[in-house]
Amino acid sequence: MEGMQQIVGRARAAFNSGRSRPLEFRIQQLKALERMVQEKEKDILAALKADLNKCGHNAYSHEILGVLGELALTMEKLPSWAAPQPVKKNLLTMRDEAYIGYEPLGVVLVIGAWNYPFVLVMQPLIGAIAAGNAVVVKPSEVSENTARLVAELLPQYLDKDLYPVVTGGVPETTELLTQRFDHILYTGNTTVGKIVMAAAAKHLTPVTLELGGKSPCYIDKDCDLAVACRRITWGKYMNCGQTCIAPDYILCDPSIQSKVVENIKTTLKEFYGEDVKSSPDYERIVNKRHFKRVKSLLEGQKIAHGGETDEASCFIAPTILTDVSPESKVMEEEIFGPVLPIVTVKSVEEAIEFINRREKPLALYVFSNNKQLIRRVISETSSGVMTANDVIMHSMVPDLPFGGVGHSGMGAYHGRHSFETFSHRRACLIKDLKLEVVNRLRYPPGSMETMHLVKLLLVKQCNESRVRQFISALLATVKTLVAKVLCPRREG
Ligand code: NAD
Repeated sequence: MEGMQQIVGRARAAFNSGRSRPLEFRIQQLKALERMVQEKEKDILAALKADLNKCGHNAYSHEILGVLGELALTMEKLPSWAAPQPVKKNLLTMRDEAYIGYEPLGVVLVIGAWNYPFVLVMQPLIGAIAAGNAVVVKPSEVSENTARLVAELLPQYLDKDLYPVVTGGVPETTELLTQRFDHILYTGNTTVGKIVMAAAAKHLTPVTLELGGKSPCYIDKDCDLAVACRRITWGKYMNCGQTCIAPDYILCDPSIQSKVVENIKTTLKEFYGEDVKSSPDYERIVNKRHFKRVKSLLEGQKIAHGGETDEASCFIAPTILTDVSPESKVMEEEIFGPVLPIVTVKSVEEAIEFINRREKPLALYVFSNNKQLIRRVISETSSGVMTANDVIMHSMVPDLPFGGVGHSGMGAYHGRHSFETFSHRRACLIKDLKLEVVNRLRYPPGSMETMHLVKLLLVKQCNESRVRQFISALLATVKTLVAKVLCPRREG
């Protein structure tokens, strides 16, 4: 097998050839990617079924729709995103051309995670191609069927040198990370995020880290609990709780805790029927290691609902835990499974304090009829993203950046934000060689009169006294310039 150095070297040589830069080429590659998703839909769905027991319609809505939507949006908007963006000019620069030019960064590395194994490599790939880069794609080895399929399909549809796929686990990724990239987008856990960032630092490579954490969900007493709990149940138990932006735990007043449990139980029945295990809509834990980890979080807890497990099939029933102590293990780490602890708090102040005492979460959710309370929670907390009166849905709004803050990550992508993440915003100023007389303002020897004039030229607002000051400074400067031009030798 080709070594990492060769793979990255080939991608770099292809990038240096300049062929990934023209917009027509980028759009043509994106079209090819769209064709791949359409023609190979069945294979993609089969791989997702094998990896995560995702049934056809869930896999389609979680992993294919989003990719097709992102492709359509990017192909439509790319010409306007990539166009030079003129910036405001002042009196000194009004004759010049000043703009932000978007240029590709070079060779980008995209490392995906296993929980949405297709979309988590495809969505960054779309943005990186759109921005004109070469891209090395590294899908997660944990979802091995999807990884194998991505490695098989991409070279059939895309430029083989510009967009290679590397498969493998920790040793391969470790070796890959010794190579020099121009940007790395990593999706996965915080511990590995630090490893990726340290490896990137050796080459001064910028990183986008899409990490996880415990995303809180506060339910106010003034709330339609049936609706709130239906939405929460959908977001918590989809993909068997293995969603980075799933609500991790609930914070609510003790007086509504049992009603929350009842409403979630009712919804679970509505969604998955009497026998969750046989519901085609309910997935499985990805492997035995994660199964054991999630199961161990149930130890010593008050199980209000669920709790059944089956190791052979990596099944864990949708579970609700009540009166959970903030000090318990389930409240220490990200759950990433179908277990929903409820921690009671007596007020919104206490909820805010609870959230702020912990690392900044990836997502924050609040349910209330009271818009003022919602705004208060937003203004007094911090998180990568937030949604009020729903969960997950911010990720479906293409104009919203998707990414964490603090321990939940850095940088963001989706839609235009992906294009910007994988582009360098180059400051461009194009002048001509005329009107050198104006430039004398900045050449030595200087004077305070000239400085006053420059200051006025650069000040934005103009009022009467400024205009008067400007005219007198201008006259003083003209006098100095005339003296400079007429008798240059007598100066200094
Ligand atoms: P994972 O095990 O698939 O690992 C992710 C990638 O890191 C893989 O490609 C793997 O090969 C690589 N990797 C693992 N160990 C490594 C090491 N020591 N050195 C170098 N590379 C290594 O996924 P995971 O970390 O279990 O993913 C789950 C986490 O990801 C959760 O915390 C979840 O919240 C988070 N996540 C975040 C997002 C997001 O968009 N912010 C999306 C999905 C998952």
